[in-house]
Amino acid sequence: MIFKSKFTYSNSNSSYSDLLFQIDSGNIQSIYFYPRKREIDVLYKNGKKEKIPILYNDQLVIEKATENNVDLTINNSQKQSSTANLFVSGSLFLIFILALVLILRSTSKFASRALGFGKSKAKFITIDEVETRFNDVAGVPEAAQELKEVITFLKSPNKLTNLGAKVPKGVLLIGPPGTGKTLLAKAIAGESGVPFISIAASEFVELFVGVGASRVRDLFEKAKEKSPCIIFIDEIDSIGRQRGYGIGGGNDEREQTLNQLLTELDGFADNSGIIVLAATNRADILDSALLRPGRFDRKIEIMLPDLNGRKKILSVHSLSKPLENNVDLSYWAKRTVGFSGAELANLMNESAIHCARDKSKFINDIHIESALDKLTLGLRTSIVSSPNMKKIVAYNEVGRAIVSAVKNGIDSVDKITILPRSGYVGGYTKINPDEDIVSSGLISKKLLLSKIEIALAGRAAETIVFGKNEITQCSINDINYATNIVREMVTKYGFSIIGPVTIDAHNNDSLIGDGLIRNKALIAENTYSKIDNEIINISKLSLNNSINIIRKNRLLLEKLVEILIESETIENDIFKKISFDLLKV
Ligand code: ADP
Ligand code: MG
Repeated sequence: MIFKSKFTYSNSNSSYSDLLFQIDSGNIQSIYFYPRKREIDVLYKNGKKEKIPILYNDQLVIEKATENNVDLTINNSQKQSSTANLFVSGSLFLIFILALVLILRSTSKFASRALGFGKSKAKFITIDEVETRFNDVAGVPEAAQELKEVITFLKSPNKLTNLGAKVPKGVLLIGPPGTGKTLLAKAIAGESGVPFISIAASEFVELFVGVGASRVRDLFEKAKEKSPCIIFIDEIDSIGRQRGYGIGGGNDEREQTLNQLLTELDGFADNSGIIVLAATNRADILDSALLRPGRFDRKIEIMLPDLNGRKKILSVHSLSKPLENNVDLSYWAKRTVGFSGAELANLMNESAIHCARDKSKFINDIHIESALDKLTLGLRTSIVSSPNMKKIVAYNEVGRAIVSAVKNGIDSVDKITILPRSGYVGGYTKINPDEDIVSSGLISKKLLLSKIEIALAGRAAETIVFGKNEITQCSINDINYATNIVREMVTKYGFSIIGPVTIDAHNNDSLIGDGLIRNKALIAENTYSKIDNEIINISKLSLNNSINIIRKNRLLLEKLVEILIESETIENDIFKKISFDLLKV
């Protein structure tokens, strides 16, 4: 709202002295003053209106006007300007508040991420959301059986408590990546129909000290509200590592989180209807306090699937896919020794993609074969190898195949190829690992030695065919691989003349304090040089063994190389046929 004087006044033509004169002459009817303006509005008796500049706070005009009975009005422009001011400052204030809100919002987003002490990120998956059932998990019958038992305890604890026993509090799933640990945990939730609270252990550990511990507290509080329920902590090794060896004394955030977890595990009463499931592939580095009775005292080990298991997993993952009738999944299970459930799932998925690319309606063996090639050998690249390079690669690969056939039998060679694949210098010889060894998980000295000899066979073949001075770096990856095995034989498994001592047990962990520094102090300098000598000796000996094997089989070598250069790939059946007569063990 703006206040205006009643009339509109034109700007003045009259001077200040004119004004004084006109007042004295009685020609002026009224004058309007503005408190803050240096002008007045003048209304003459003849009706003329005029704006005339005056001095600020002019007293003379007021005196004269009063003397001459001129009507004086103080214009309410104070109010007007103050209203206008109010309006302007009001909008400024609003803008300020708005900006403040925006800033606060964005920082509070950050703060809630970094300082969100209150809320753990555990997601609640209600009963309907978990659709996984035990049927979806194939090839791990023992683990499934144990977990089914856990569900029974959860649903009717009386079965145990009547016998005076306690319901287990924590169950630890241990196994290599991709074997279905997470899948099993989901299946338990799906089957038991109790709330399933899952969190990845890495989510506990955040930027600021104390966050992890408070998240653990939160998690268990929520669980108590929802009981009976299952808490699932995935990849628990990221907080559950052995304490006390961290850098700088080890009293770090992770440790506090772990302590809180231990406290919570002890804290909830027995039979309270909460079961904590955790999964890891590094049970060896877990803090022993975690594994104590009353905490994760039940351990369920999940191994890589065996032949039968692989077949079942393959069929679970073919259910929704159109397979051609003659596809034999047992055959593919045989070809996939050492594959985890996740890799098998990936194989079927990749086969479907190859099928779609082929515009076929059904997945056939060719699709699965090319999918397997892609997964084990990598993508084919378009690098064209020169005839000379082809020859070198062929000798390398056939050399490995022959030594493998001698050491592990003709069946162990799955496929030889010199088609360049991304990730490999030249070709690739696919060797099936021994079924028994994979399932038992035991590693013998003999097995490691044969692995080393097979790895060095490429170099052996080159040495024989081209001579000592003409060898190439073609087998560099294999040599590296062999050296790592030899080092483990000597320092980890006690398979050398140094004896049954562990020298770098924690070598591959980041537990600097425990691993390297402590060992350094405990191992004499001359032991180090003995280790080096042993590594070199075993490697040289293995290379010699490989050379001897290939020398004996020179005829077979040349024959296979010829075929390989010609057809670029030798499948298992052709390899078997040719080697059957010619291979000399
Ligand atoms: P982990 O947690 O042990 O690393 P996951 O449970 O995450 O492995 O497995 C990844 C995927 O692999 C699963 O979603 C599933 O598709 C497949 N998979 C793994 N193991 C099995 C199994 N035993 N049966 C069926 N599918 C499996
Ligand atoms: Mg997992």
